[in-house]
Amino acid sequence: MSINFKDYIASVQDFPEPGIIFRDISPLMADGKAYAAATDAIADFARERKVDMIAGPEARGFIVGCPVAYKLGVGFAAARKKGKLPRATVSASYQLEYDTATLYLHKDAIQPGQRVLVCDDLLATGGTIAATIDLVERLGGIVVGTAFIVELTDLHGRDKIKNYDMLALTQYE
Ligand code: 5GP
Repeated sequence: MSINFKDYIASVQDFPEPGIIFRDISPLMADGKAYAAATDAIADFARERKVDMIAGPEARGFIVGCPVAYKLGVGFAAARKKGKLPRATVSASYQLEYDTATLYLHKDAIQPGQRVLVCDDLLATGGTIAATIDLVERLGGIVVGTAFIVELTDLHGRDKIKNYDMLALTQYE
């Protein structure tokens, strides 16, 4: 049975602020079959690229990436926000609408030469995923692809990561 992932994404008007439509993946996570289908599709994409590690940004990147890592029997590198990682880190900052944000990885989260798939729930402007890719590459990882449940095409995040293979399970304008 093939799954239409859009059936499991809730569109929430005016969240987190007026004029924004938030695409909420919670219904997908709540449905075992849909969550497994999303995980399987990303795991197939990762397997074809012979990945050694999955990486993803806090917090929904963990929800997407960790079951894929488990399914493939590989590790997961967690890119975290400020003040969360207890040991030596590398950091990468990126632009938000009115501010900047910074993500961190433990310096030993990725070994040089490892083939890494970078995952998140959603691609919007691409800032979050580009920062995560930067962290992985600064540790010597080889980013062999990116994967998302949702791509917001009008925001052109894809252009920011055009040098990488990309999988998006569903798209909205
Ligand atoms: P970007 O950095 O590509 O502009 O934004 C993507 C990041 O913001 C992702 O980590 C994602 O979790 C979060 N995000 C932005 N908009 C949405 C949305 O409509 N739905 C969800 N689920 N996450 C969003």
